[in-house]
Amino acid sequence: MRAFSIPMRTRFRGLTRRDGALLQGPEGWGEFSPFAEYGPAEAARWLAAAREAAFDGWPAPLRERIPVNVTVPAVGPEQAHRIVKAGGCRTAKVKVAERGQADADDLARVEAVRDAIGPEGRVRIDVNGGWDADHAVKMIRLLDRFDLEYVEQPCATVEELALVRRRVEVPVAADESIRRAEDPYLVRDAEAADIAVLKVQPLGGVRAALRVAEEIGLPVVVSSAVETSVGLAAGLALAAALPDLPYACGLATLQLLEGDVAADPLVVEDGCIAVRRPRVGEEELARFEVDPGAWRRRAEEAGSA
Ligand SMILES: [Mg+2]
Repeated sequence: MRAFSIPMRTRFRGLTRRDGALLQGPEGWGEFSPFAEYGPAEAARWLAAAREAAFDGWPAPLRERIPVNVTVPAVGPEQAHRIVKAGGCRTAKVKVAERGQADADDLARVEAVRDAIGPEGRVRIDVNGGWDADHAVKMIRLLDRFDLEYVEQPCATVEELALVRRRVEVPVAADESIRRAEDPYLVRDAEAADIAVLKVQPLGGVRAALRVAEEIGLPVVVSSAVETSVGLAAGLALAAALPDLPYACGLATLQLLEGDVAADPLVVEDGCIAVRRPRVGEEELARFEVDPGAWRRRAEEAGSA
């Protein structure tokens, strides 16, 4: 087991570094990077995903390239415009409902993104649970003048998602409401979403995530847990194995990190990422490598949980 700690370019979940471990098996490398607050039972799923990558490999891909979205943080309209132009993607995800900003800021940002991506492009918004149900309904109706593909996690709770979903035309996607393996079924049973955002590590691997996708019967957007190219490869494998992939995926997250452990990182080309397994480079890993002792203990605890 090798361990890494990579500084983040942008703060995410309050983190300034992304820490994790890599294991190597006959099939290649697997990433084990549960967040620090997760206990052994939770981390066990992340470990299962890493083991699957290293020892079992993944189901055969049905497609070779996965369309991905560019993410626009809660910046001003000019910068939002530049990010979309530079991203080269046909789908943009716009962060809205940032603390300390006004509704007018969201309207200006989404307008700029629609202008930058053109009438054929797709624009989705990510609220990260920042609105209550009434405010969500009002804002979604206002923002839909820029033709929204869907709204991700408009409110914090599953109950509110279900309420909002009944009151707006724009499809609702559940992201934060699906954090643990049992969550997708709660979302389905409450009829709280039209789309499920799924991540491989929290669900216990590519095959486990495929089963969830089949059982909940909702279209899936595969997203990363802000991983290195090793972890992203598992997300690509899931996206490549899904019977249908109607939406661009949230796997273009490598740029959130200062660097990568792969010699041939999974970068975006022409709005897509190629489905392949990158090689861990000794030189690249050396820049970020840390002592794996703590990760070995975490994996042992997770393995016996
Ligand atoms: Mg989200």
